[in-house]
Amino acid sequence: MTIGWILERDRENFFAGTERVKKLAGPPTPSFACPFCRAHWAQARELQAHIAVAHFVARPILIIDGVEPTRTTILRKRPIKISVLNSSQAELKMGSTPAIILTPEELVRQVELLKQAEVSLSLANAALPGTTPVITPYSLSFRIVAPATMRGVEMAFTEQLASGELTRALVGQFLQDRRCLGDGRDYATGLAKFALGILLKERPAGEALTLPFAAYRESYGAALEALAEFDRPLARLVTSMIRFAMNDFGAPLAVTGYWDLDLVRFMLANPGDANPPSAPGLSANRLSICPVDHGTGQILDLGVRMFSQPRWSPILSDECRQAAASALVDEMDRQKALAVWAAASWRLGAKMDAEEPLRQISAIHPFRTWAEPYLESLTS
Ligand SMILES: [Zn+2]
Repeated sequence: MTIGWILERDRENFFAGTERVKKLAGPPTPSFACPFCRAHWAQARELQAHIAVAHFVARPILIIDGVEPTRTTILRKRPIKISVLNSSQAELKMGSTPAIILTPEELVRQVELLKQAEVSLSLANAALPGTTPVITPYSLSFRIVAPATMRGVEMAFTEQLASGELTRALVGQFLQDRRCLGDGRDYATGLAKFALGILLKERPAGEALTLPFAAYRESYGAALEALAEFDRPLARLVTSMIRFAMNDFGAPLAVTGYWDLDLVRFMLANPGDANPPSAPGLSANRLSICPVDHGTGQILDLGVRMFSQPRWSPILSDECRQAAASALVDEMDRQKALAVWAAASWRLGAKMDAEEPLRQISAIHPFRTWAEPYLESLTS
């Protein structure tokens, strides 16, 4: 038979016939088959919903002391609890040695022992046979330093940089101290950046500094970042001091033990609060364990003096005004001098004396949180 011979009028019947044949084959075949259980679905979204419910594979997760490490996690403290979730197998690679395959339990035992290591590990969850496992990779730096090593760095810092002169040569000497080499290096480098920040801020005549004054903020910022990872009283003191110097009162104000700093930070963060840290007893021996830059030191002295006054007078206002007007003082320290003036006079009920500094800081972060409402209450 040759189709060409079908008459024009029979075309309809011809095609109608093929349609009938097609219908005889039954309902359309479902086009979406589940690769895991062979169930069939007519729509892609139905298959997707089926897989999400029936064959869900959870992402494997590593938890170290309650948090999942980020891509650039550095561990400075020995972890208390390591857990692995949703994982059937782990791969661990340390430095340049070949990777090893472990069970999650073996991995936890291995990782708990690490002190100084660069580690790549990946957790796999192959919950379904014959499927590609879900993998989570992690890169971790273990830089766990023994407390004795950190104490050594602190001793070197106090001996060389906290009790006398401060020069770049002494900072270099501190970094070369044998107690600051090896595992203690990162801690020592953070402290050295703080010391360099002090030099850049104070600019002693004997040091030929090429970096501009404003570079002290970068040094302080780098020191803050490095030292925030160390859970040591000295690291907390230095980071609190840097935050104070940079007018950062946002972090929770943990007590550092350096009363001047604790008092003035507390007062400038929220002068309305009635319970400042209590003063140390008269017998308390004060040790010099950390240098303070002169600008910050001047503000601390001013703050302690003003917040210890039993009453206010224009002479005290004048003392604060002079501190805030010094051309040698950094802008942020001038703002703190105004804040001390405003907060101390306000606390003693001398609200009219507080108006002049309040006007100058009512728009300045972070003091405006209290200065602005105080000023409004005066003028309304
Ligand atoms: Zn299925």
